[in-house]
Amino acid sequence: TTKQLIMSEKLAAIGEITAGVAHEMNNPIAVMQGNLEVVRSVLDDRATEVATELRLIDEQIHRMTLIVNKLLQFARPEEYAGFLERHAAAEVISDCLPLVQYLLNKADIRVEREDTATRLLLMNRTELQQVLVNLIVNAIHAMPNGGTLRLASRDEQRDSRPGVTIEVSDTGIGMAPDLIERIFDPFFTTKRSEGTGLGLSISQTLIDRQGGALSVESTVGAGTTFLLWLPEAD
Ligand code: ADP
Repeated sequence: TTKQLIMSEKLAAIGEITAGVAHEMNNPIAVMQGNLEVVRSVLDDRATEVATELRLIDEQIHRMTLIVNKLLQFARPEEYAGFLERHAAAEVISDCLPLVQYLLNKADIRVEREDTATRLLLMNRTELQQVLVNLIVNAIHAMPNGGTLRLASRDEQRDSRPGVTIEVSDTGIGMAPDLIERIFDPFFTTKRSEGTGLGLSISQTLIDRQGGALSVESTVGAGTTFLLWLPEAD
């Protein structure tokens, strides 16, 4: 659609313009981080008087690091991701789970798996893992009081192309249609300072680039399902 076209042009522009900027920001951020540590150690016990201020500076530096890293992963994927490989979806899903286990336990979330896919898919392993972890962490954020995270993979034909669908489903807060309209926009977030709003826009671009598709179904108060389709590796 036209909207998707505009969006991917917008993302391509972001990639080009910001790759250099993001890269150049790494050094000043590292300098700030280093100096903050020096200030802390010099202040020593007097640091308690400004503990809140120091923590806020630290948090914001951390936030800048996150944004810069995400932008770089997106803009210079070749430096981060390596090459295309064939994968069994179930294996890549399994690799993601240890990375989020702590968050799952903390939020009291049960994991349900159903893997029936027999086809292999073609993608950068790092990129696919990045996309899945993004979707899983979003699902966890949507279930602050616990729930069920369903991870499934199955063979699916789309437009007569064989492929694999990976489903990431939560029983969380869900999203209204006007929210769904905006979630793939770069920098759109409802998470204030904890969110970058880059997860879904970057995920969609990575999947598009691989000839796949990322879509969403959601009901407010009931939960959300992200469907990630990728073509079969031949
Ligand atoms: P971020 O997670 O940093 O906010 P994303 O691009 O990953 O950025 O997500 C954008 C927004 O989409 C989130 O802030 C949230 O409002 C919404 N969202 C994404 N996944 C879910 C989900 N599983 N349930 C409810 N809302 C979601």
